[in-house]
Amino acid sequence: MTSDLFPPAAPDGGAESCAALDGNAAAGDFAGILASDPTTATVRCGSCGTTQAFGQLQAYLGGPGTVLRCRQCEAMVARVARTPQGTWLDLSGSSSWLFLPTPGPT
Ligand SMILES: [Zn+2]
Repeated sequence: MTSDLFPPAAPDGGAESCAALDGNAAAGDFAGILASDPTTATVRCGSCGTTQAFGQLQAYLGGPGTVLRCRQCEAMVARVARTPQGTWLDLSGSSSWLFLPTPGPT
């Protein structure tokens, strides 16, 4: 609807002060948005091109949103923030997300 994707109050990826956790710590925040289980995804960093499993990303949960950073170059790969306006999902720091096919119901 707008090209201004993130509100100014959203995390900018540089303010988090907590120690990094592995990406699995952020799975719950992303699972509510993505149709697939995020822990099955393989994510390519948009900055350095490193491909890593979701669980290998560095997760920062202490800020106003959840930030995932590349384990290799520490660039922001993805972030999610819940605000009164709604849920913001920013994947601009990643170049691709690969979700493996899940077994069908049969
Ligand atoms: Zn990187």
